[in-house]
Amino acid sequence: MTNVPTRLGIDALIESISVAADRLDAIQATEGAAGNISIGVRWLLDLADRFPEHETIALPEPAPELVGTAFVVTGSGCRLAAIRRDPEANLGVAVVDPGGETATLSTAPRRAFRRLTSEFNSHFAIHREAMAAGADYQAVIHAQPPYLTFLSHIARYQDESVLNRRLLRWQPELIFQFPHGIGVVPFLVPGSAQLARLTAERMRGRTLVVWAKHGIIARSTYAIEHASDHIEYAEAGARYEHLNVMSGEPAEGLSIDEMLAICREHGVTQTVFTEPGRSEGRRGIRESTVAVELGGPALSIALSLNGRRRRTRQPA
Ligand SMILES: [Zn+2]
Repeated sequence: MTNVPTRLGIDALIESISVAADRLDAIQATEGAAGNISIGVRWLLDLADRFPEHETIALPEPAPELVGTAFVVTGSGCRLAAIRRDPEANLGVAVVDPGGETATLSTAPRRAFRRLTSEFNSHFAIHREAMAAGADYQAVIHAQPPYLTFLSHIARYQDESVLNRRLLRWQPELIFQFPHGIGVVPFLVPGSAQLARLTAERMRGRTLVVWAKHGIIARSTYAIEHASDHIEYAEAGARYEHLNVMSGEPAEGLSIDEMLAICREHGVTQTVFTEPGRSEGRRGIRESTVAVELGGPALSIALSLNGRRRRTRQPA
């Protein structure tokens, strides 16, 4: 499985979390202490210098297959925007103990939280799925980007087919970013076991799921920056959608045929829209897909579009 190019150490992982947290802060997706982040890695991390204190914690669910896996996780009530300034106050590292029922949580003496984020059960369920499919790295981010979250309060956008048709039409990049669509989970109590279970289910083969009336959760088995990119792209689609609705819907956005043409030209396998001539089924959304996010040509095209877009945004 080709995931991250190198096995990042704890310092590099923390730096990458800081970069992602800064991006989320920049798009106002993490007001107050909203939002949380975890990175799971299946290699040894040297924690002695930064996180010298240890305690045993229960895992959200037994996971004997994850023994030795390390999760760098934000603390409950911590501000994502504060991670760069003081990572040790805001992060802990849980390593799954032998047997898979508990973990050893390593923290710093000046930790500013009592427990890990209350959403860790949703993160953990997503990590389990990806790692069962062979991932040895995965980043998961929960955030509350305002346009996506606002749309998720409107009943019609809680339908996956509607959400994907209406959001993916606003930028050619969006079908590259979400070739298997964006998932939707109806409103469930934050932190609940039901939310964790349904989130992992809707995330299969995807990289972003909307939590209705709450926010979103995104992942990447390549780099945490990709997970924050997914959030930025989806939020851009939601912003265009909001703009269009507020303007009396003058724009059509990309047609399904135009999006299919983009995919054909660049060899992207998408499962959001039905190709002409294929049976309709439940138009739009594939029910289940492989557990690891897009790879191969779709990813390289998406990255090259990404790169181009970034370059054009660089200041002169
Ligand atoms: Zn939240």
